[in-house]
Amino acid sequence: MPVENLVIVGTGCAGLTAAIYSGRANLSPLVLEGTQPGGQLTTTSEVENFPGFPEGVDGFALMENLRKQATKFGTRFEQALVQSVDFSSMPRKLVCADRTILAKSVIIATGASPRMTGIPGEKELYGGKGVTTCATCDGAFYRKMEVAVIGGGDSAAEEALFLTRFASKVYLVHRRDALRASKIMADRATSHEKIQMVWDSAPVAVLGVEGGAVTGLQVKNLKTGVESVLPVKGVFVAIGHVPNTEPFAQALAIDDQGYFVAEPGSQIRTRVPGVYVAGDCADHVFRQAITAAGMGCQAAIEAERWLAEHEH
Ligand code: NAP
Repeated sequence: MPVENLVIVGTGCAGLTAAIYSGRANLSPLVLEGTQPGGQLTTTSEVENFPGFPEGVDGFALMENLRKQATKFGTRFEQALVQSVDFSSMPRKLVCADRTILAKSVIIATGASPRMTGIPGEKELYGGKGVTTCATCDGAFYRKMEVAVIGGGDSAAEEALFLTRFASKVYLVHRRDALRASKIMADRATSHEKIQMVWDSAPVAVLGVEGGAVTGLQVKNLKTGVESVLPVKGVFVAIGHVPNTEPFAQALAIDDQGYFVAEPGSQIRTRVPGVYVAGDCADHVFRQAITAAGMGCQAAIEAERWLAEHEH
């Protein structure tokens, strides 16, 4: 069985940037592509904050470009879902459904998936039709419109506050009567003149499926049982993320929320020599395309050095 120099797991910003750098370093990386090629950016329409694109860039097109750039430098792509790993000996083993892949070094860039509510209309209207999980990406499309944010943590508070720059009104829909967010964020959100708290309320349905665009959010007050419709054009789901780290959880350090924990002093080094993590699977703070790309770059450079030191 061939032993790869470097296997990169994931094709989001982190994985593809790692592929560009390591491909250009002649490592001929093998990239494993999972269920969402291109990662989270492919679910958003326009990206306005990726440096170098003053007119903005379509998220899907940006990922296509990264992929082309990686291919140009000799990256190979294969579809495979890693189910488990054995990092206890060399070469490292990545166990997939139909085969086991052997590698000297590994970059894990499997991303995180936004947690969704699962209510009717949410899936149908996700991505460019009014339901989104990223105010930083999509907030500017809702100038002078009313929007709703679902959630009660720091993310929800942050998204709601960010949206006040654009939206005429932001409903913050939370299932309890107190925010989970830190006090400072909670105080800012609850005292903002544009934010209206919708306490003790669970989302019931996103309306507008027939017309292909959000027309409202149906919510239910859990104390009174009364249902009502918030007249919003945008629904921002901010109930947390689920990092895609499960297949690696035995082999590497993860925190209580499932994110990879890097070695002290590094963002990307793990306790296993030659194995690195990059992007949203290892970052619950910034979670931006450009920060994921930065981590992918770091991981590729470190992998290259590690391979050179260990005379691959
Ligand atoms: P989180 O703290 O886990 O909060 C998730 C929120 O969503 C909770 O309020 C929860 O309600 C609610 N929720 C969960 N499932 C739900 C469902 N099915 N329907 C309706 N509501 C649901 O997640 P997060 O806000 O993404 O934060 C994650 C971590 O990142 C936290 O440690 C946070 O402090 C950190 N973070 C920090 C900052 C910052 O410091 N600026 C910004 C963002 C995130 P309950 O409260 O009732 O459980």
